[in-house]
Amino acid sequence: MPASDPTFKITPSTTRLAAAEREKELKAIQFGRVFTDHMAVVNYRNGTWQDGEVKAYAAIPLSPAASVLHYGQAIFEGFKAYRQPDGSVSMFRPDENWNRFNRSARRLAMPAIPKDLFIGASEALVAIDEAWVPSGPGESLYLRPFMIATDPYLGVRPSETYMFLVIASPAGEYFPQGLKPVSVWVSKDYVRAAPGGTGEAKCAGNYAASLLAQAEAKDQGCDQVIWLDAIEREIIEEMGGMNLFFVYRQHGEPVVVTPALTGTLLAGITRSTLLDLAADLGLKAEERRLRLTDVLQDIASGAISEVFACGTAAVITPVGEIKGRGFAQVVNDGGNGPVAMALRDALLGIQRGTAPDKHGWMHAV
Ligand code: PMP
Repeated sequence: MPASDPTFKITPSTTRLAAAEREKELKAIQFGRVFTDHMAVVNYRNGTWQDGEVKAYAAIPLSPAASVLHYGQAIFEGFKAYRQPDGSVSMFRPDENWNRFNRSARRLAMPAIPKDLFIGASEALVAIDEAWVPSGPGESLYLRPFMIATDPYLGVRPSETYMFLVIASPAGEYFPQGLKPVSVWVSKDYVRAAPGGTGEAKCAGNYAASLLAQAEAKDQGCDQVIWLDAIEREIIEEMGGMNLFFVYRQHGEPVVVTPALTGTLLAGITRSTLLDLAADLGLKAEERRLRLTDVLQDIASGAISEVFACGTAAVITPVGEIKGRGFAQVVNDGGNGPVAMALRDALLGIQRGTAPDKHGWMHAV
């Protein structure tokens, strides 16, 4: 929906950051700490979505009894807008984020949002804050759509009113050390998601429940957590904010393998994109169950040559070491692997507009 659409009211901020200040922020990007001048807001009441508005980024009014604060009906998404070589701006696969947002909404008993509102809010925000889209390598404008339950009512039931918002924050490279491979901690004490739970929904509670394990990983000198399944505590699922890939060698040929979507891990859009890109690059790709003990053995024997993580924020990040209680396994001598790098180059090329977008993944703003 273009910014001029009558259902999207634009109220420009009267307190925009001065250009020189903005440029300062864009020179030393601190992901997730600095936000653009505006936000998009759409309210839901009486069973329908109301007209949307783009207005100055500001605190939102919320009753202390708002159900999101007590029972956690809160879902979110994350995708990026990239500066293109001709100076225009394009978003990467926002329709997939819209699809996943509505799947999350369904699981949390929240209302679905129409595509034109979800994408239109993002487009209108990017259009008005276009000067905030950085153009350096690895840089983008991260968009964070989210929905919260706003009924001022303490009864435990789905809220009848909701607020959908989109905010935006300039993003540089996700890991402060750049492309240095990360070390990951296998969490055996905590579980992220159980069958029938909310593992495949992008809901706030999943992340709250992950923080203690993330702190444990940090204590162990690791950057991120690897989550196992809830039943056997043996099947590799995903990381805290990324999906995982393992590169096997079969008769000398690389095969990229990622855990199958079982309902307890997030269906990453980068994950699905990489499965398509692997095919484009002539690589065999598989989705299946992966046992931790097998994976560790296969890394030790050289049957697995690379491990990498992928997600919107991190793009592709090599995993250099997998640690857990009683074991530590270095991967690929702790270095970057050729398959991860080839897939990363292919993906970044499309996102930055330097490679043809034959799948039609880029959405011009
Ligand atoms: N798993 C989890 C738990 C995540 O939060 C994310 C980030 N959205 C991902 C995987 C990667 O998903 P995507 O590629 O869509 O960013």
